[in-house]
Amino acid sequence: MRLVVDLNKCQGYAQCAFLAPDVFAMHGEESLVYSPRAEQEQRDGVARAVAACPVQAITAEGLDGARHGLAEAGREASDAR
Ligand code: SF4
Repeated sequence: MRLVVDLNKCQGYAQCAFLAPDVFAMHGEESLVYSPRAEQEQRDGVARAVAACPVQAITAEGLDGARHGLAEAGREASDAR
């Protein structure tokens, strides 16, 4: 699963690092480091992090049922018309 965090939006609230510590980590007080590729077994933690981020900075590709995934599906459906 591919992950992108919009670091311009990220405010360093660390919710993601708390919920998926093997994918996201805080480096110092405010800067976030993360793995751009998450394994399937990390998807639950990633899904929680996506949902919990207060500024919706995290985008995860291939997360079924997540907000982003549903938005993508909707866009594809309307493109097909
Ligand atoms: S939860 Fe969102 S704002 Fe907080 S550190 Fe993670 S990406 Fe940044």
